[in-house]
Amino acid sequence: MTGEPDSYVAEFRERLGLPGIIDIHTHFMPEAVMRKVWDYFDSAGPLIGRAWPISYRDEEQVRLKTLREFGVRAFTSLVYPHKPEMAAWLNTWTAQFAARTPDCLHTATFFPEPSAGEYVATALESGARIFKVHVQVGQFDPGDPLLTPVWGQLQDAGIPALVHCGSSPKGNRFTGPEPIEALLRRFPRLRVIVAHMGAPEYREFLDIADAHESVLLDTTMNFTDFFEAEDPFPTAELGRVRDLGDRILFGSDFPNIPYSYGHAVHALERLELGDDWLRNVLHHNAVRVFALDQPDAAA
Ligand SMILES: [Zn+2]
Repeated sequence: MTGEPDSYVAEFRERLGLPGIIDIHTHFMPEAVMRKVWDYFDSAGPLIGRAWPISYRDEEQVRLKTLREFGVRAFTSLVYPHKPEMAAWLNTWTAQFAARTPDCLHTATFFPEPSAGEYVATALESGARIFKVHVQVGQFDPGDPLLTPVWGQLQDAGIPALVHCGSSPKGNRFTGPEPIEALLRRFPRLRVIVAHMGAPEYREFLDIADAHESVLLDTTMNFTDFFEAEDPFPTAELGRVRDLGDRILFGSDFPNIPYSYGHAVHALERLELGDDWLRNVLHHNAVRVFALDQPDAAA
């Protein structure tokens, strides 16, 4: 595995005096679905387009142990359907997973289909804290009328939707900034977390974040050697990343990353945006967004 050794993460946390890391972009899913995802990465399928060796391909319990050993005190179980009649079943699984995994934020998802409003209401009632939406894999318009009741509920509840809306690694007609801009015109208080900082449309998604206070960005895979080789971040925009430091959240894509977890953390440290920026991004911002300092919050 390439990148900084895993021991780097503990050393980094100690240096910054961080009580833990919050990783808002990790994948836990039903075993059979995870295997299919791994097969897809192995085959470098058309939605990926390049070799992608997975670093942490272990049994679920081993993966949980690995994350906890990094000092990750809260994380997610991002699932996403690529077709209709799959989301409700995935949501049942993630609810059960969160119930038996107290440090996992209860995660849910949806797809444009007539039942979406109803099963999203069910997920919210059962305590979902974050929703994952995959426009790149799902290949649907986030503005689809079938999703109108969904976005309305999320906006009213103040529950964030983590949306893969950038065109990396392979765009489609629904990826890119325009559909999200249109959505925010209809739901201006919607808490959208733009996955991968909107790569490769970094500038456009920074503009969206500047224009909408409710919009956040996650750093998943950004600034790593692997990502920079394909979708380099425009260095002229780094000042804006520093200035938006209270709305940027650390994510890793664990376990589906082709390098070490330490490298994902080091990729942020080497930006030299300051220790406070790092503390906010790797921990404090997510504590605020998910109210993790409340007594009933994830351990
Ligand atoms: Zn991901």
